[in-house]
Amino acid sequence: NDAEIASHQLLIRSGFMYKSGSGVYLYGPLLNRVLKKISQIVAEEISAAGGLEVTMPILQEQGLWEKTGRWKEYEASKTMLQVTDRGGQCFGLAPTAEEVVTDYAAHLVSSHKQLPVCYFQQHTKFRDEIRPRFGLMRVKEFIMMDAYSFHADEDSLDKTYEAMRAAYTKIFERCGLQAFAVEADSGSIGGSSSHEFMIGADVGEDTILMNAESGYAANSERAYGSIKPMNAWTGSDDLQEIDTPAAKSIEEICAFLNNAGHNVQADRTLKTVLFVSETVDDPVLVAACVRGDRDVNEIKLQNTVSRLSGKESLVLRPMTETEVRSVSNGAEPGFASPAAGFSVDLCIVDQNLKDVGSLVAGANKTDVHLLGFNLDRDAAIELHYEDIVLIREGDACPKSGNPLIERRGIEVGHIFKLGTKYSEPMGALFTDKDSKRKPMTMGCYGIGTSRVAAAAVEQYHDDNGMQWPMPIAPYHCVILATKKNDEASHAAAEALYHELQGKGIECVLDDRDLGPGVKFKDWDLIGVPLRVVFGRGFADGKVEVKQRNGDAEEITADQACDWASKAFESAKV
Ligand code: ATP
Ligand code: MG
Repeated sequence: NDAEIASHQLLIRSGFMYKSGSGVYLYGPLLNRVLKKISQIVAEEISAAGGLEVTMPILQEQGLWEKTGRWKEYEASKTMLQVTDRGGQCFGLAPTAEEVVTDYAAHLVSSHKQLPVCYFQQHTKFRDEIRPRFGLMRVKEFIMMDAYSFHADEDSLDKTYEAMRAAYTKIFERCGLQAFAVEADSGSIGGSSSHEFMIGADVGEDTILMNAESGYAANSERAYGSIKPMNAWTGSDDLQEIDTPAAKSIEEICAFLNNAGHNVQADRTLKTVLFVSETVDDPVLVAACVRGDRDVNEIKLQNTVSRLSGKESLVLRPMTETEVRSVSNGAEPGFASPAAGFSVDLCIVDQNLKDVGSLVAGANKTDVHLLGFNLDRDAAIELHYEDIVLIREGDACPKSGNPLIERRGIEVGHIFKLGTKYSEPMGALFTDKDSKRKPMTMGCYGIGTSRVAAAAVEQYHDDNGMQWPMPIAPYHCVILATKKNDEASHAAAEALYHELQGKGIECVLDDRDLGPGVKFKDWDLIGVPLRVVFGRGFADGKVEVKQRNGDAEEITADQACDWASKAFESAKV
């Protein structure tokens, strides 16, 4: 009943998985087969790119995470599940494994001659997500392939990064899925550069901005672009207070001012959004200013706050009403701006607002706004011009200048250049050619194996059920014997089963004592790609064959093996 998206509904209804607890699923026999196939493809390609498969512990000692400072970070974001053993020692349940693997590499690697090296695993991860939802898409416990590479220098990292990117492309192709890479933000993993692999789907939680001709594609969290220039200011450039009773939203203010005879468009207003950046020590009070017709990109803002304040932002949360009043001269929320009476630790203004002249801004007084507010002339505090605007459809592509379009996507994989973010604090050093001790340069790479299965269902399903691509289908072919008490057709069905199995075509023989209609419905739901039916026609030596997404046809029983083999071969990637 709570399933909102197709993959969640279909995987539950078909018995592929069972909800064992909130955000926790048991994988049934069919889903288990799918996951093993995805894992196999992943393991082959990551190994081919140089990865060595290991298994790391799920119980990760607090001490390791203290070394990088991430114990506090993950505690603040509440993402890591923590357990304490009988001796009082604290562990986190692996949300990711940079600390554990860096500790391992520090132990093993001492010389540049041992580099590069890459370790990977496919193991359970735990994340106490704020909103587990959409079935396998966002769960508290899931399977991830995580790989970590160690290098003597950036050049070597760049090579492995490209090899991993190519391996990912191959993995999704081999799974029969259409995935594409987009530029991404590095999030709590950190590092300098990162790409996400997306499967396009309307139910995807990520927004992608792209331009087909230039090839630019980026997660909206990270996207750059240029926004349309603003409308001209037609009023006086003198700073003037104006009473705006009950007008708080940008629309209300514009409507009010236009009624009062001032011609003001939304883009000539200043939107000031107030946040608190929680850090390991004192919080940082932050104001973010963007054009009134635009929104703040909170990810870009959080990165900027960390950089400018020199204090890593663990959580960026909206100010409470009390906090708003305390920074804006006691004014109600809705009237803050960097004008007189305002005080925050950091005021970051979108770079598109540089040198734009007069604006409408809050006056830090309830029910009062300022006309002709000029940031450079009238701001009461220091301003930092930075790129913090959320790019949206229609903005200009940073590569070509042509309009960007917006698409939704499911993030199935992520690759990061980490640099020395982990090796430095953890003392993962090696002796380089010049005999100097240096921290190893790192990359890390993740694929949400279980999320890939859900994304495959989103990409391929119809009203009747799932349509697994051949390479990751739980079985390749289902053989149905539908005529009751008919030994000859049952025996022929079984013979075909063994023949196809012998050719590496994984079959399931459905000889349940049920009517054909029920069986057809079940197998359409389960989505096995090929179906052969030994039914009434078998008396005349005929069987019915059908691909899951094609039409049924009748062929002679002795052609069935050929038909299935051909269909199987032609679906190979
Ligand atoms: P998201 O933005 O969706 O939360 P993330 O950026 O936190 O993902 P990473 O830390 O890069 O994810 O993890 C690598 C991969 O693991 C992701 O690309 C995704 O496929 C998968 N993944 C992450 N969180 C979950 C989850 N809660 N449930 C299922 N799969 C997940
Ligand atoms: Mg996440």
